[in-house]
Amino acid sequence: MLIAQIVFIALLVIAITLFSRQVRKIRRNILLGRDEQISGNRWKRWKNVLLLAFGQKKMFRNWIPAILHLFVYLGFIIINLEILEIILDGILGTHRLFLPYIKPVYPAFISAFEVLAVLVILACSIFLIRRNILHVRRFENPEMTCWPRRDANNILIFEIILMLLFLTMNASDQALQMKHYGHYYPTGSFLITHPIAQHLQQISPGLLVGLERGSWWLHIAGVLFFLNYLPYSKHFHILLAFPNTYYASLEPKSQMPLMADIVPEVRSMMGLEADDSQSAPASPPVHFGARDVFDLSWRHLLAAYSCTECGRCTAACPANQTGKKLSPRKIMMDTRDRLEEIGRNIDMHGSFVDDGKSLLNYISEEELRACTTCQACVEECPVSISPLAIILELRRYLVMEASSTPQEWNAMFTSIENNGAPWTFPPDERGQWASRLA
Ligand code: SF4
Ligand code: SF4
Repeated sequence: MLIAQIVFIALLVIAITLFSRQVRKIRRNILLGRDEQISGNRWKRWKNVLLLAFGQKKMFRNWIPAILHLFVYLGFIIINLEILEIILDGILGTHRLFLPYIKPVYPAFISAFEVLAVLVILACSIFLIRRNILHVRRFENPEMTCWPRRDANNILIFEIILMLLFLTMNASDQALQMKHYGHYYPTGSFLITHPIAQHLQQISPGLLVGLERGSWWLHIAGVLFFLNYLPYSKHFHILLAFPNTYYASLEPKSQMPLMADIVPEVRSMMGLEADDSQSAPASPPVHFGARDVFDLSWRHLLAAYSCTECGRCTAACPANQTGKKLSPRKIMMDTRDRLEEIGRNIDMHGSFVDDGKSLLNYISEEELRACTTCQACVEECPVSISPLAIILELRRYLVMEASSTPQEWNAMFTSIENNGAPWTFPPDERGQWASRLA
C-alpha cells in the first residue's frame, strides 16, 4: 500500500506543479497587454458572474445545446466532490474514506454522481454527433479545422472515457462487496452500477480487483492529465469565464471607447474647452489603436483565453452571413494564437525578441474592414466577450497610423474634418436639399 501511496502522491505533485507552471505562463501572457483600470459597480459585475458564468443565462436562448451543456457543466462541478474522496484515499491509502462519516446518505450521493455521469456521456455523445455527423454549420467555418476541431473532439471523448471509468470502478467495487471480498465494505446500492455489479459477480475476485483498481488509477490519472490539458485547450474557458464576465465592459454596447491619450488634443483642435478630467498624457502613446497584442488591454487578452470557440458570434455576424471573410470567433482565436506565439518567444529568449510579426499577420485588413460594428457578436457571446473591441483597436491603427484606408473612406474623413459630417456640403447648406422638396 505504501508504494501505491508514494506513486499517487508523486503523480499528484507532478500534475499540480505542471499545471501551476502553465497557469503562470498564461497569466504572464495576459499581463503583456496594456494596463487598464477596471472600476465601478461591483454589484453589477458579480451579478454578471452569477447569471452568465454560473447560471449560463445566455446559453438558454437555444434550449437543446443549453441543457446538454448544463449536464456537462454540472458533471464537471459536482463530480469533483467525488474526486476529493479519490484524492484523499490515494494519499492516505484508504478506501472510500467518507463512507463511515456519512453512511446513511453515501449511496444517495454516489447514485446522484452516477446519474450525472450517464447524462454527461449522453450529452458528450450528442455533441460529437452534432459536430462530426450532423455538421452543425457554426462548427464548419474555416477556422474550425485542424487543432480546434481535434481539441473539441478530444475533450468530448475524454469526458466520456472518464465517466465510463468512474462507472466501471463503482460496478466492480459493488460486485466485490457482494462477494464480501477484502476491504470492500458494503456501501449500500448505487443506482446505475448495482444492476451491472450483479452480472459482474460471475467474474473471479482477482479479476474484479484488477478491474476496480485499474479503473480507479486510470480515472484519477485521466483527471490529472485533463487538468494539464486544459491550459493548452479552448476548454480553459471553464476557469476563465468567471473572471472574464466579472471584468467585462459595463458600458452601453454601442459606445466606442475614447482614446484618452488624444482627447485633449482633439478638444483643442475643435475649439472646445479643456476638460479638467482629461489632461495631456506625459508621453505620446506607443501606437494609435493596436498593431499587436501588446497594444491591446489585458482585458482583451483575458477574453481571448476565455473564448469557448462556440461560434455563436460568427453565426450572428451579418458580415459572415453575407459571405465576407470576417468571423468574430476567428478574431479571438487569432489573438490567442499570436499571444501564445509571443509567450513561446519569451520562454525561448527570456524576454520578447522582435519576430517581425504582429497581430495583423493573423487578421487581414479585409476582415477588419468587413465589420459593420453592429454589435451582434457582443450581444451573442455567452461569456461577455467583445470581438468588436479588438476589431476597433486594430482598425484604429490601420486608419490613424498605417494610413491604410480605402479611397472612399479618405473622402469621408476629409468631409468630417471640414464639414462635421460625412457629406461634402458645408454645414450651413445642409438644409437646402429640403427646400427642393417643398
Ligand atoms: S460587430 Fe462586426 S464582427 Fe461583430 S457581428 Fe457585427 S459585423 Fe460581425
Ligand atoms: S467570442 Fe464568445 S460567442 Fe464568439 S466563439 Fe468565443 S465564446 Fe463563442
